[in-house]
Amino acid sequence: MSASAAQALRFGPQIMARADELAAITEEAPRLTRTYLTAQHRQAGERIAAWMREAGMSVHWDALGNVVGRYDGARPDAPVVMTGSHLDTVRDAGRYDGLFGILSPIACVADLHRRGIRLPHAIEVVAFGDEEGVRFGVTLIGSKAMAGVFDPAWLDRTDSQGISLRQALLDFGADPNGLAGVDRRGRGIAAFIESHIEQGPVLLQAGLALGVVTSIAGASRIRCTVTGLAGHAGTVPMNQRRDALAAAAEMVLAIEQHCQNHPGLVGTVGQLNVLPGAVNVIPQHAAFSIDIRSGVDATRLAGVEALRVQCEAIAAKRSVQLGFEPYFELTAAPCDERLQRQLADAISAQGLPVMHLPSGAGHDAMAFPAVCPMAMLFVRCGNGGISHHPDEILSVEDADQATAALLCLLETLALTD
Ligand SMILES: [Zn+2]
Repeated sequence: MSASAAQALRFGPQIMARADELAAITEEAPRLTRTYLTAQHRQAGERIAAWMREAGMSVHWDALGNVVGRYDGARPDAPVVMTGSHLDTVRDAGRYDGLFGILSPIACVADLHRRGIRLPHAIEVVAFGDEEGVRFGVTLIGSKAMAGVFDPAWLDRTDSQGISLRQALLDFGADPNGLAGVDRRGRGIAAFIESHIEQGPVLLQAGLALGVVTSIAGASRIRCTVTGLAGHAGTVPMNQRRDALAAAAEMVLAIEQHCQNHPGLVGTVGQLNVLPGAVNVIPQHAAFSIDIRSGVDATRLAGVEALRVQCEAIAAKRSVQLGFEPYFELTAAPCDERLQRQLADAISAQGLPVMHLPSGAGHDAMAFPAVCPMAMLFVRCGNGGISHHPDEILSVEDADQATAALLCLLETLALTD
């Protein structure tokens, strides 16, 4: 694109420049790593707060270190439309994950402010301090606190230096006793909308800039153990073996095939340990993990059951013992149907086709169904869809169109209050 064409974009160039500026605020330059309650969290939050003020918002840091900007509405009693995402990152991160969902609504509010427009409802833009959970091993700390599901026991969790979350909050100037003030349930939030890069290749492969998220996937994790019989790799005939690894391998392929054959289901075996792990011994034990996700809980639960049945059949056929132990479950967060329709209309209003897709990754928005209706706008991730990686790419045109669609949605909500 030519320089003059880039200048014709209303929002994109400034969002890209700001994402670059925030990417320089890191704990381990030149890599981008910014974790919760660090000096870099403070520094990035202050930059964001300054942009919020410039856009006509009042700003405060809440008790958990979330930055909250508010653009007052024309009607003081009208419920609030909240939007935002996270300013923390994984280690060696990309620069748009989370940040786009903060920078795009700030650009929307700045545009309203410039035009002298007050919507009936207030808009709050939140930069959540922790979504990724890198420092304390709990994800979505900021948004869970707003949804009233922050477990006070988390305050005693420690980081790798032995500093507790409680102490880190105090050191940051935040308030571990202020949780009740952060909880927004029953406090007039009409909707939560998050814009986010897709972090996958679906929109890219469809040749589309924007998508409407249907639901944020739920997940089950299962620990599987397979016990066979060790033996000499040279002496035990092939038809008399009870090889735990060969059985596990057949199970892994069955899991892959099952998920391939069931749309809406994704399954991954990411860990595999083999004992005794010697080159000349038939494996006695194999342990592996299963991570299975779907936007529809019933699909996921049926998938878990089907995998259990298939793994048991393979174990029986091969005369090995199977342990199949689900140990983690997260329910899906469906996006609000009405907000999905309004978001689809806002995308159409930009002259773009609309695609609906589930989110396989977790996001701040998934905490919000406890508070208010929730929706998510996905924007295309370039470079094959890579994310949680420095090669994460967002194009200036896509950033621009996503922000225009978000602004259109915010203005539409004003008409349908
Ligand atoms: Zn994110």
